[in-house]
Amino acid sequence: MRFADVINQEIVKKHLREMLSENRLSHALFFLARDGAGGLPLARAFAQFLVCEKSNPAAVKSAGPSLFGDEPELAAQTDSCGVCAACVKASQLIHPDIHFTFPVISSKPGTPPLSADFITQFRAWAVSNPYANSYEWLQFISAENKQGNITAKECEVILHNMSMKSFESTYKVQIIWMPEALGKEGNKLLKIIEEPPPHTVFILVAENEELVLPTILSRVQLIKIPPLTKEDITTALVERESLPETTAKKIAGMSDGSYLEALQIIQHQDDDWDAMLKEWMNSIVRTGPAAQVKVIEEIAKIGREKQKQLLRYFIQILQHALHISILGSNRVSEKESENVHDFAGKLQRFLNTQQLEAIVHELDKTSYYIERNAHAKVTFHALTIKLYHIISDKSLILVK
Ligand SMILES: [Zn+2]
Repeated sequence: MRFADVINQEIVKKHLREMLSENRLSHALFFLARDGAGGLPLARAFAQFLVCEKSNPAAVKSAGPSLFGDEPELAAQTDSCGVCAACVKASQLIHPDIHFTFPVISSKPGTPPLSADFITQFRAWAVSNPYANSYEWLQFISAENKQGNITAKECEVILHNMSMKSFESTYKVQIIWMPEALGKEGNKLLKIIEEPPPHTVFILVAENEELVLPTILSRVQLIKIPPLTKEDITTALVERESLPETTAKKIAGMSDGSYLEALQIIQHQDDDWDAMLKEWMNSIVRTGPAAQVKVIEEIAKIGREKQKQLLRYFIQILQHALHISILGSNRVSEKESENVHDFAGKLQRFLNTQQLEAIVHELDKTSYYIERNAHAKVTFHALTIKLYHIISDKSLILVK
């Protein structure tokens, strides 16, 4: 994977290149990014940049002096070449000096699993789904609701690999994807992360720093990777998925800075969120409990990813409604009104700003719980009751 294959994040790419060219590359980088923003793709692209024979000729072990004397100084490369032997291996995740550790599950009870047990699957999966998250990875290896782990035994493998001489490149890179899955056993790695052998680079790629051992956090250099902008996602959808620009914009608006969410929305484009939302709202304001139970059951059936999308879609509509009530419909920009929904207009006439904000807050919270495996029926039932109170009884809004 080249930097060019990573959607935007130009500032981070430049920062990484400068650290390398100015000889101040930290030996333990901690990439922090929400899923779908490009954490793992950036780690892969940077590892490839480190071993590429063209972008980083000094990194090639066998590079001797040229037979023909002085070679012209190469212009500083801003990306790996993508075609040298090292790049080809790196792009297939088979470069012997780029090691991957990621959450896995035990295939035999009582046997601590290793990333190496799943490496063939991981390569195939990561190459075709560079923007996917650990939830999808665990689904891919049929972990269902099992929690992925990075085991104490895996930490020993890392220690072993990093203590060996590198094979082909001057650099040895250890990518640890989702260090959140490291329990206390991660403390085994403290020493090597703090004082690694020369030319060893650790790249930890995390989504949630609160779940990472503080002892590890204090030994790494944090690199925050921002969510993608709507423009980044729009461009990527047009270029990579050949979507028409208006569709791409609409999806980008719903994807919350995550290219992964955008791709998931495309998969479910045919889902009629409008119909489901209207039925749900109607059950709250008009038809009553029996209708509510029916809608909640329908929502429970669609699964976690779609539930999150439904919530996000609803939040987007409410945000449009908020814009209209704050700015007035004639002040909402032309650009935005392309997507403005008649549903947003209706909600805005029906609910005041405080109510709209309170609903967004509740939807956000629900999305958070759903993400963490909360029971769908119970969660949406509780949400429905809250929405009923927010919509029907304004006084309750203040008692958040
Ligand atoms: Zn190359």
